[in-house]
Amino acid sequence: MGNVNVNIDGRKIRVREGSTILEAATANGITIPTLCHIKGQVPSGVCRVCVVEVEGSRTMMGACHTPVAEGMVIHSKSPKVIAVRKVIVELLLTAHTGDCVNDSNAENCALHNLASDYEVGAPHFNVRNPRFYPAEESNPYVKRDMSKCILCRKCVKVCGEVVRKDVLSIGYRGFRSKVVSGFDEALTAEACRDCLKCIEHCPTGALSAPARV
Ligand code: SF4
Repeated sequence: MGNVNVNIDGRKIRVREGSTILEAATANGITIPTLCHIKGQVPSGVCRVCVVEVEGSRTMMGACHTPVAEGMVIHSKSPKVIAVRKVIVELLLTAHTGDCVNDSNAENCALHNLASDYEVGAPHFNVRNPRFYPAEESNPYVKRDMSKCILCRKCVKVCGEVVRKDVLSIGYRGFRSKVVSGFDEALTAEACRDCLKCIEHCPTGALSAPARV
């Protein structure tokens, strides 16, 4: 495979053919935010935070899953991109209904940090049936607070494709979609040991270490 020439934010860049826009940008010190992406894994493109403008394209493109092409002109920080990213972050915040005020892990929440970077305040969207789930502490290694989950699927991916345990999956459909263990059962210590990879990758406080660990 050869190289291709692209332009990102006015910079001429030569990158390996087959790279994604995100890989090309990252390799050249250009930061494009992501919440669902795991480096080295097949991108899922579900969070949409990495959207960029590609000249000639009718729609915004997800940088994590769009391969570069010769001559591509990409804008990762244009006013249009910033405006769309703000709406996406606001939508994600709308679905993130847990209590962060009393959460000592809140400062590690990538979603909140992104909202702060993009100056996104409290969401304006009116949700008819917001999702609230009680926090679960049945597992000695992982505390789950699914009200904070933005369904980025990173935990499912890392558990299945990296750790190869497949303890977690997405259950239910549509607005009721939820990360579940088994048939939405308690996450037992027998099913989930202490690899803690899901906590490491969770971009919100939905998964965290219980206080006693
Ligand atoms: S629990 Fe965390 S990692 Fe898993 S889908 Fe929800 S936000 Fe993503």
